[in-house]
Amino acid sequence: MKILVATGHTQGIHPGDYHYCIERELVWIQEPCGRDLRDPEGPCGCGRGFAGAASHRATTTAMVVESEMTRDDMVLAFQTSLEDGGWPPEWAEDVTDENLDIAARLPAGAIITRKLESFFVRGAMF
Ligand SMILES: [Zn+2]
Repeated sequence: MKILVATGHTQGIHPGDYHYCIERELVWIQEPCGRDLRDPEGPCGCGRGFAGAASHRATTTAMVVESEMTRDDMVLAFQTSLEDGGWPPEWAEDVTDENLDIAARLPAGAIITRKLESFFVRGAMF
């Protein structure tokens, strides 16, 4: 199964890049704050970020990888992560499906960036 994880690969290509995640941790897409909805290139950066499930930090680059994880494993991981981060654990299924939905559309190794609800392929690692 293909899943979307944090990566530091290609970091720094864009001046707005940041990467505080753990390499290859699961990521999820958070709703941007009001400031980023108006300007996703702005100083907050949540509108161009992927949230790390383990680190509770964020990165602007995510990669599609083949994983042994099942959907159930992911839901469980996100439940724990969301709860730890102070988010509703009930979001776990939606967060998992959004992650899988993005990963399913791309080849393993694809590196993507985000602008609000849009995702862009930046490169690939094979
Ligand atoms: Zn923000």
